[in-house]
Parts: sequence; structure tokens; C-alpha cells
Amino acid sequence: MKLEKESIKLLTKAIEKLELGFDLPDFNSSHDYQKMEEVILKAAERMQDNYPYFHPLFAGQMLKPPHPIAKAAYMMAMWINPNNHAMDGSKASSPMEKEVVADLAKMFGWSEHLGHLTGGGTMANLEALWVAGNIHPDKAIVASDQAHYTHERISEVLKLKFEKVATDHQGRIDIDALEEKLKKGNVGTVVCTMGTTGLGAVDPLPEIVALQEKYDFRIHADAAYGGYFRLLDNLESSTSEKYALLDQVDSIVIDPHKQGLQPYGCGCVLFKNPKVAQYYIHDSPYTYFTSDELHLGEISLECSRAGASAVGLWATHQLMPPVKGGKFAADLSQSREAALSLYERLNTSDHFFPIVKPETDIVSWAMKGQKVSEMSKAAQEVFKRAEHNHLYLSLYKYPTAKFNDPDFEIDAEYLICLRSSLMKPEHKEWLDEIWARLEKSRSRAVTSINS
Ligand SMILES: *Cc1c(COP(=O)(O)O)cnc(C)c1O
Repeated sequence: MKLEKESIKLLTKAIEKLELGFDLPDFNSSHDYQKMEEVILKAAERMQDNYPYFHPLFAGQMLKPPHPIAKAAYMMAMWINPNNHAMDGSKASSPMEKEVVADLAKMFGWSEHLGHLTGGGTMANLEALWVAGNIHPDKAIVASDQAHYTHERISEVLKLKFEKVATDHQGRIDIDALEEKLKKGNVGTVVCTMGTTGLGAVDPLPEIVALQEKYDFRIHADAAYGGYFRLLDNLESSTSEKYALLDQVDSIVIDPHKQGLQPYGCGCVLFKNPKVAQYYIHDSPYTYFTSDELHLGEISLECSRAGASAVGLWATHQLMPPVKGGKFAADLSQSREAALSLYERLNTSDHFFPIVKPETDIVSWAMKGQKVSEMSKAAQEVFKRAEHNHLYLSLYKYPTAKFNDPDFEIDAEYLICLRSSLMKPEHKEWLDEIWARLEKSRSRAVTSINS
């Protein structure tokens, strides 16, 4: 198997172009390239000990390879190594960050916003909940029991009250349970997950927005994983309706390093009301000298941040803007088609059954059987066998209390399922191969369970 290397040629050309911009005397810095070669080959050998995250047969955890343009642009920026904290350190890449953040805000339907890139979704959610806590200091943050665990932890860090709301059998926030909490009057912010990390389920945003007529609370949309699905036209209409309402929320988190083809270190937080900048105000004696314009460091909790992340995302947006009907959206819709195709196969299988119909591009399924404990064991066996067959899946624990009238015995709190994040556009084309390897792993697993 060969890795993509064409982008290295682009990188060399880009660096040659970059150096033309600096009319300065040459300087020498000496490095021992021979020794460096030894070291980097050692590093490459160490890196062979990875799962092949970049390959379509890796269909387990949420890992999507960065686009070659993102890798090349990020690397090119390394020859400058800008710090997007203040304009002094990122004269070119801070404006690029503002452009890409505006692109993302526009994708959600906002012409006005406040926002910036972050190290990732955790940091972005921290900032959103920090602002939420400043606005409703004595009220709770609520999120579903399928929301990312980061919300509970962040609330603890921020010393904000946190409450969990139950979910329905599809893993979406239960609206009646949410309203029960709202009635008590102590909820300041509802976290609406637009694509859960486990099942890829989308919380019912239209119903949550409707509750704002009766109760006063903020809505924070955690779209770290699922935000880009707003661009698709092959979602269920009920799912599209939820994404369509994202312009109504108060803050949004999206991770370009999840579905957005970026290397890690690229999250984004967006606020609908630019006036929340007031909460960030601080007095720094030493950083900002060169510009009267807003410095990104003045509206961010993180100080130093990789300007290269902004350059990588900027180049990606130039090539494939995050707009409806574009190449980026077309590629993402392939992932969605792959998920639906896998779901259909599971639905007619004699051996597997899907847990829920996928709303995005994550599929979860279980082994048919008589008892939950046995079904869980079989799934774990298939998971291991699949790895032997170079098919990389993941496992997911589904609460058995959510099964309605099952035709198997519930003898455990959780059913261990198999799970696939079909995030690569190639997954659609590879689905026959993935299915063949899954079937082979299952038949081998059954043999070994019986023997
Ligand atoms: C991944 C994820 C996070 C955490 O983001 P990181 O980029 O991993 O820090 C938060 N919420 C959701 C829904 C996620 O999928």
C-alpha cells in the first residue's frame, strides 16, 4: 500500500513561493541532516505501529484523514510558524482565520458573529459554556445523557451546575424530560448535540427552540462532529429540519478536525451575538502593538494558537468551500450514503441487526441472539476477528433499558454493539469489501464461540 506523496511536491513549490516574499540577506543555520535522517526514519518506524486511520478499511472510530491541501498548507505555514494570538505574530494568518471563521458562521446562516478557531472541540465548548455561565451564573447547564462527557467536566471546571437529561431510544434528548427540568426554572443553557459521538444522533432542535417561548434559556449547539451535515441534501427530512434551525441558537461549536478535513488542533466556537466579546475583556500589558483591529487573542481563552491551523483550513475552503452543492458537501454525502447502505444490509441480515437508523454517518449494530450477555460477547469476538481481517471497527455500549419489547432476554444493563464511523468519502465504494470482511469475521467468530 502506498501513501499519498504528491502533496510534498506542492509543498516544495509553496515554500519556494513563500521565500520570494522576504527580501533579506541570506543566513545560515547549520543542521546535521545525516543524523536527522537517522532520527526521522526511527520516528517513521515507530509510527508504523498505528491502526491505518487513513484507509477505508479503518471504519471504526471518528478519524478522518486531513486533505492533502490541508497538510501541505499547514506544513508550508510551519516555515513561518505564526501565532494567531495577536496580529504581531500572525499578520497574514490572523486575517485568514477571520475569513474561515466567517465561512463557517455563514454555513450556519449567520452574517454577523463572534468566533475564532480553538485547539479543538473541548476548548471551544469550554468557551461557549463559560460565556453561558457569565450570562446565567446561578443556573444550570443541561445536556442529554448521550452528549459528549466534556460538558459535564467543563461545567465542573467552571463551577456551574450541570444536569443530565434522558434520551429516547434513538439517543436524542427526550423533550418531555427536558421540559420537566425547564419548569423548575433553574436551567440557564441547554446543550443541543447536533450529532452525538456515539450514535451520530441529532437532538430535536425545533422542539427545543419552541420551548424558548415558555422558558428563558440559552441554546448551545454542540456540532463538533455533526455541523457540516447542514450542507447535505440526503438526510431524513426530520434531520434536515433540525440542521436548518441552527441559525436560531446562541452559540455553536464545530470541529474542522473531525469532518472538515483538517489536522488535529482545529476546533471553532461561534457566538451569534458579537457583544459577548465583553466577557473576554482583559488588560494585557505586553502583547498588542501593531494594529487597532481586534486581535484574536482578545476574544479567546487560549493565548498562543497555531496560525498554521488557520492556513490549512483557509486553503481547504479555497479548494472546497463549505457550501451546499459544492465538492465538500458532495464528498460528505457519500459518507451518508455509505451509512445508509450499511444500514440496509444490516436490516436484512440473518446475523446482525441495526440499533437505530443512522441520522448522519455513524452506524451501530448488534449480533442477533437470545441473551444480551451472549450477544455482547459475540460482538466483541467479531470486533477482534475483524481486526485480524484488517477491518477496523469500534464498540459501543447501548443501554438495554431503551429496548422496547425486545425478542431477546435482557440480562445486562448494556448491550455491546459494533459501531462504524463511515467518515471517508471512499467508504461508499469500499462497502462491499467492508461487508465481505465483516461477514467473514462473523463466521469465524461464530466458529470459535461454538468450539
Ligand atoms: C469530538 C467531540 C467533542 C470534543 O471535541 P475534541 O475536538 O475532541 O476536543 C465534543 N462534542 C462532540 C459532539 C464531539 O463529537
